[in-house]
Amino acid sequence: MNIQIPDSIKIGGYVYEIVSDKETDEVLDAGGLVGQACHDDCIIKIKKEMNDQLRVNTFLHETLHCIDQVFNGNKLDEDTINVIANGLHQVIKQLQEDDF
Ligand SMILES: [Zn+2]
Repeated sequence: MNIQIPDSIKIGGYVYEIVSDKETDEVLDAGGLVGQACHDDCIIKIKKEMNDQLRVNTFLHETLHCIDQVFNGNKLDEDTINVIANGLHQVIKQLQEDDF
């Protein structure tokens, strides 16, 4: 079972739109990025032309940045976001496996 990346996600009182298209890829590629959380306009950008597993991991990563921004005053550093995103990704995948 694949994890479906939604079109939007609620984080606190905000609705973040999730954008993933050719235009977004051009912007992200120019910055050498695969994802970006834009808090000022409540948009999460995810690179479209990328392996599905990487897209899910990027979605979790950028969502964690938004959670950190909304609930935690943007205190987590990049390494911590990476660790939590990778851990969550593994746990969510495990929960989806039929024999778990
Ligand atoms: Zn990050």
